[in-house]
Amino acid sequence: MTTKYLGWLTIFFLISCHNQPSKPPVKTLVKPPKVVKKKVYPTIPGFTNIQKIAPTIALDIRYATKDNFTGEQIYPCPACYLRPEVAAALASANTKLRKKGYGIKVFDCYRPRPAQQRLWDKVPNPNYVTPPSKGSMHNRGMAVDLTIFDVKKMRELYMGSPYDFFGMKAHTDYPSLSQKVIRHRKILTDAMTEAGFKGIRTEWWHFYYVGPLQALSDVEWECK
Ligand SMILES: [Zn+2]
Repeated sequence: MTTKYLGWLTIFFLISCHNQPSKPPVKTLVKPPKVVKKKVYPTIPGFTNIQKIAPTIALDIRYATKDNFTGEQIYPCPACYLRPEVAAALASANTKLRKKGYGIKVFDCYRPRPAQQRLWDKVPNPNYVTPPSKGSMHNRGMAVDLTIFDVKKMRELYMGSPYDFFGMKAHTDYPSLSQKVIRHRKILTDAMTEAGFKGIRTEWWHFYYVGPLQALSDVEWECK
């Protein structure tokens, strides 16, 4: 009796389920293709705009905002120019990092000497800013300040100190770095070293290209 009852109950259940109004199909969320106007990058003779050859490199040019150690805007607009061989090397570091799930974000690239002068005028201290008369690798378009981010999470890797932090925590040989920070910095340093750059002891974010020394340059980029 119980088995028969259960049998009928199952049939009833199956029929009622079958007669349920079917759910609307789940919409697949596909982003509409972006209409991207072909970007025009103003050219500077002797320099390459990094976004032109490596468009996935993210820009966070701090000196084009007030979010930098001077609290003043130094560049009229954000841009990352480098000497062609330096840009190519950075693009290759980015390509290799992307295969591992990381991306490059640049804080500063070529820094025209008039901008170096503006920095110097705000902070005339050689411990923090290279005197414009001497010039730095940034003024030659041979240095880049950068970090890396996790492409999936779209989150920067924690490097133990913020960018442009003047203190021990920014040093590559700071003895109290956590294993996590050491691991993160190693990913960045390995990628940059492999691409032909060298880091410096006091700033984990600064790398300069090892190659023929290019001239100091005064040319500033156009803002459109
Ligand atoms: Zn730098």
